[in-house]
Amino acid sequence: MSKTRIILDFQADSTEKPITCQLVRDYGLSVNILRAKIEPDQAGRLLMEVEAPRDALEKALDFLAEEGIGVRFMEKELRVDKEACVNCGACTAVCGSGALVIGAPEWELVFNAERCVACELCVEACPVRVISVNF
Ligand code: SF4
Ligand code: SF4
Repeated sequence: MSKTRIILDFQADSTEKPITCQLVRDYGLSVNILRAKIEPDQAGRLLMEVEAPRDALEKALDFLAEEGIGVRFMEKELRVDKEACVNCGACTAVCGSGALVIGAPEWELVFNAERCVACELCVEACPVRVISVNF
């Protein structure tokens, strides 16, 4: 069983469905909601960490597709252009989750996608604008 971070994109007519409840109750997923943008009658998004056996997760993903809910995997959503990064460390100062770290001996930025909660604070903090988050 492994932890996976996924982003769910809801259409306006889906935001009032008990989707998270169904993922837990019907598919046995362990769900930790990290971030939510949900308003009644508007499109919305959830960032969640899920833990489940692979077959249960695949069934849950099929269910989400049937419900018309878009699913994206978190690793694909934050990008750091390492070629353009000057390793100044400014982003690490605002990254409370520890997803961005820099230190001895290389003093090069390291991004740990598993820790990222897509707060986007690093995007603004980077003086050379080499971080992008799609959430
Ligand atoms: S989006 Fe937030 S949690 Fe993710 S790397 Fe940037 S500052 Fe850290
Ligand atoms: S703030 Fe930008 S340039 Fe500085 S270490 Fe972070 S990604 Fe690299």
